[in-house]
Amino acid sequence: MVIIMAIREILKKGDPVLTKKAHNVTIFDEKLHTLLDDMKETLKNAPGVGLAAPQIGILRRVVVLETVEGELIELVNPQIISSAGEIEDIEGCLSIPNVWGIVKRPETVTVRSQDRFGQPAERIADGYNARIFCHELDHLEGVLFTQKVIRYVDPEKEKRGDGGEV
Ligand SMILES: [Zn+2]
Repeated sequence: MVIIMAIREILKKGDPVLTKKAHNVTIFDEKLHTLLDDMKETLKNAPGVGLAAPQIGILRRVVVLETVEGELIELVNPQIISSAGEIEDIEGCLSIPNVWGIVKRPETVTVRSQDRFGQPAERIADGYNARIFCHELDHLEGVLFTQKVIRYVDPEKEKRGDGGEV
């Protein structure tokens, strides 16, 4: 069988799927692997650093993200098990192009998840990486950053963090 990765369409704000809660993954099969591969391909071809499955119309708890250090991470059924601190910084979203705002996020988060084979993993993320994790996990709850924004900003005038749209 030849597997060809596909770039999926990213849904935009206003699509009802983006405000729905995603379901847990219980089967770690070829279909999940194709979804993860497609999401990575889609992210690579988009001006962003994170993508959650609901953003391509799939209501499953699956996320791919690229850390500040450039590491591509797959998260299945991720959950934040602890967090500390608070930082305000700029973020955007691939589903809400050209909109940037200041959002308050934890400084550090510990995230428990599974890999594509169902194996458990735990990660500690801080700074902008913690922000990316939090933003993506919000997508799994049907929450967009515009629901949390403190104020909108013009990125041309205010320097943003290391990340792109997520
Ligand atoms: Zn987003």
